[in-house]
Amino acid sequence: MDIGIMGGTFDPIHFGHLIAAERAMEDARLNEVWFVPSHTPPHKQKTTGPNAEHRLAMVELAVEGNPCFRAMDDELKRGGTSYTYDTLESFRQTYAGYRFHFIIGADMVQILPQWHRIENIVRHFRFIGLQRPGYELDLAKLPPDIRAAVSLVPMPEIGISSTDIRTRASSGQSIRYLLPDSVYHYIKENQLYETMVPK
Ligand code: ATP
Ligand code: MG
Repeated sequence: MDIGIMGGTFDPIHFGHLIAAERAMEDARLNEVWFVPSHTPPHKQKTTGPNAEHRLAMVELAVEGNPCFRAMDDELKRGGTSYTYDTLESFRQTYAGYRFHFIIGADMVQILPQWHRIENIVRHFRFIGLQRPGYELDLAKLPPDIRAAVSLVPMPEIGISSTDIRTRASSGQSIRYLLPDSVYHYIKENQLYETMVPK
């Protein structure tokens, strides 16, 4: 089994995430993609958006109906800073024999050298990198051992970010069609992001 892991805060999940997962699955012939919302990501200030339960609920709604996509609560359950290294190691032990591929957008590819224990991660796992508007996807800038672990998968440039969605929602602008309808309605029903000060 080849499993794609899509990590992120998913605050909220949007079509950029889902298209990236679909393209990675298709191109790298993955059997499934697991979406793993982080508790506290190392590279971000504290999550200021809806709590973990809402972020997980939105991921669950977004993957509903796709038997190849799964929402995983491992990092939320573990709590604290969510290091990819810990997550992948724990998956590797629990699901012996599975191959794990971590799916990341170009913004994450750029900062791979700063990741916690990256030299250990690249020994056991591969990365799938996808382009993202506003970020250069230049593997030549990465150290050779990291570069060797990254494969690029083509994807249409999708100029959607959770930050933009939060900003739009908090200033009363429409966020419809940037994310699945089910997630859109969940945000409305729970009045998420409406009063939040955008980052
Ligand atoms: P925020 O603006 O809060 O950082 P985000 O839209 O960047 O949110 P994250 O949860 O930070 O979403 O991202 C999770 C993963 O999805 C990262 O690897 C990121 O690069 C990737 N990703 C998010 N949006 C896109 C997109 N539009 N195109 C390609 N990759 C994306
Ligand atoms: Mg981001």
